[in-house]
Amino acid sequence: MMELRLDNWVPVNVPNSKKGTYVVVRSKMHRGILAFKYAPLVVEVVDTYFPELSGLTIYLYATYSALGRYHVNAYPYNLALNPVDLKREPNEYVVHVIAHELTHLIQYNYDIFVSLGQEYFPLLYAKRIPKGEEACDLYTYARHPDLVVPGRGGYIGIPENADPEEVHELALEAIRLRNEEGVRNYIKWFKERLKEVV
Ligand SMILES: [Zn+2]
Repeated sequence: MMELRLDNWVPVNVPNSKKGTYVVVRSKMHRGILAFKYAPLVVEVVDTYFPELSGLTIYLYATYSALGRYHVNAYPYNLALNPVDLKREPNEYVVHVIAHELTHLIQYNYDIFVSLGQEYFPLLYAKRIPKGEEACDLYTYARHPDLVVPGRGGYIGIPENADPEEVHELALEAIRLRNEEGVRNYIKWFKERLKEVV
């Protein structure tokens, strides 16, 4: 059994948000880079693109098996980032990864955020966000064009020459089709249209 060292778990708060968003680093591995590079970036992504999550305290862990992860434990607002692999990624893609994980956080806590979310993003919160990775990417792209990174993309890849604004609009339209017209294969619809945006 591993020795549990409590001194490793003293939280590092990153209180650099006017809106009161906190990120508490809960990893004993790669604490420095998580606290000084990624925690402020998580705060920035929350306050810029996820106003409905502003003011939350988010626990940040390290993961080494994916670029990012959302996980549920006793505390609902957790995410994990890969401090090794993300170092090789451009900032805009790191922002996408953080946003993708925050979208998972909303998928799993929809009931908590639905009324506040509807004030900011009526279309995204009109219906429960479906589970799944592709849905998570789609809802991330529908949130803001900055979260669309041409030539990259986790589960739904974005063509290299795509215009982020156009992809963003397409994602919104796919969600509208799902919400208002009962289109069940809205993700397939989006992926097919995506091939035509270049
Ligand atoms: Zn995911």
